[in-house]
Amino acid sequence: MSAYPELIANLVAGRDAPALSGAEVEVLSPHSGAPIGRLARSGEADVAAAVASARAAQPAWAATPGVRRGEILHAIANALEARREELARIVALEAGKRMADSLGEVGAAVQCARFFAGEGQRLFGRTMTSGTPNRWAMTVRRPCGVAGLIIAANTPAPNFAWKVFPALICGNGVVLKPAEDTPGSAWLMARICEEAGLPKGLLNVVHGLGAEVGPPIVAHPQVDVISFTGSTRVGREIAETAGRQLKKVSLELGGKNALIVCDDADLDNAVHWAKLASFSNAGQRCAASSRLVVFDAVYDAFVRKFLAATAALKLGVDDDCDLGPVINRRQLDNMCAAVERAAAAGAKVLAGGGRATGPGLSSGFYMQPTVLEGVDPKAEISGAELFGPIPVIYRVPGFEAAIALANASPYGLTAAIHTRDVDRALTFVDRIETGVAVINAGTHGSEPHMPFGGVKASGNGTREPGTEALDIYSELRDVYVNVRPERA
Ligand code: NAD
Repeated sequence: MSAYPELIANLVAGRDAPALSGAEVEVLSPHSGAPIGRLARSGEADVAAAVASARAAQPAWAATPGVRRGEILHAIANALEARREELARIVALEAGKRMADSLGEVGAAVQCARFFAGEGQRLFGRTMTSGTPNRWAMTVRRPCGVAGLIIAANTPAPNFAWKVFPALICGNGVVLKPAEDTPGSAWLMARICEEAGLPKGLLNVVHGLGAEVGPPIVAHPQVDVISFTGSTRVGREIAETAGRQLKKVSLELGGKNALIVCDDADLDNAVHWAKLASFSNAGQRCAASSRLVVFDAVYDAFVRKFLAATAALKLGVDDDCDLGPVINRRQLDNMCAAVERAAAAGAKVLAGGGRATGPGLSSGFYMQPTVLEGVDPKAEISGAELFGPIPVIYRVPGFEAAIALANASPYGLTAAIHTRDVDRALTFVDRIETGVAVINAGTHGSEPHMPFGGVKASGNGTREPGTEALDIYSELRDVYVNVRPERA
């Protein structure tokens, strides 16, 4: 029997629910290209039912003490951990990943659940002084109401955890729309949440295509806060709809992240991290290194070592493989077309360049690890996020040019520098226009207690997860208490 659920139904009001229209779509394995299951193809009516359920269940949850909500999240974390193998098998199948990577991602989701479970004991406001005698002034956190959460396919289990757990600990009801390419992990995680004690009806999951399920969630007047992880194009649409309703919205969007290699870098370390940040998860990370900015003095040596590392990469989903397929056929076609256009415009393809077709790969959505050089920093491929294993290498004369090139991007999510010079490293931290700055490692990496997010077209200024996520999923209420000592 396959580890993958045959039919991925919605979860509405605590029950499995096919789409009200009865429509379904196939889920394909990115590794083989073959169908592995079906999912409910939902629409506006399914969203309305899910919002009604979340709305109905939310007041009792909001009235449950935060500490108790945290205890339930602890139970969920333990239940997810107990079923990590089962969950990781689903992630591996639907996302085309090695089992080791899938287990790692489930572990990250568990850590995130634990962090927000602990927040149930804090959910802090502030107590301040008042300008009036005998008056106390303080803030308390209140839930927003119903949170509409829309997530991307790249790391499905952590993506679920990053939004669902902070939304729940703050006392909200939830309507979640998982990515249509990776719905199985959300399907199982939501059920595990209920089995572990989450009140039924509070967490609702509506599956289907982005353009059919996403907009009704965003536009629904009973959804109070939206959190979205995905492309900048869709993020802009969501911001427009939410803006018209003055609805609170958190956007975690794309990146075109620069990794700078200085002339004093430890080159082997720089190559190691550039390889991981460019190619792990087949480059499907908002924080992937897609622009390698290398000082002229070490350019040839870096390129030689980086190409040797690239040539040694093994594609596939077995334990000894380095990267798997990209998520779907459309993304693969987009990547191949972008590389072709770049080559036609004069880019030199140093490695890869197209679809990988080796034994066991040709029916899946495998992109060759691709390295380009000789690209104009203003060219299309320098600005556009491809979300695949396709770094471009740029040659720069020195630090000023490196910073200027790194900042010449519509995005501002993450960046890294490789240098042994503390002045250079900290000047980079000061001047780089990103939400995350890394010294001597990859551009990717995030911890559940740290506030991740970007500037410019990478987001709208919010940060998730960390305690900062509480600001998204709760509203502050000012409380004044007037005391009359003469009555004491
Ligand atoms: P996408 O925007 O196409 O889809 C993301 C989610 O939005 C999916 O669930 C999809 O079904 C849904 N969606 C699609 N159209 C919609 C619409 N019109 N209205 C509402 N929802 C809609 O993105 P993708 O290609 O699946 O994911 C990759 C993108 O996500 C990249 O840009 C990547 O950088 C970004 N990402 C960002 C972060 C971050 O934390 N900043 C993390 C992971 C991925």
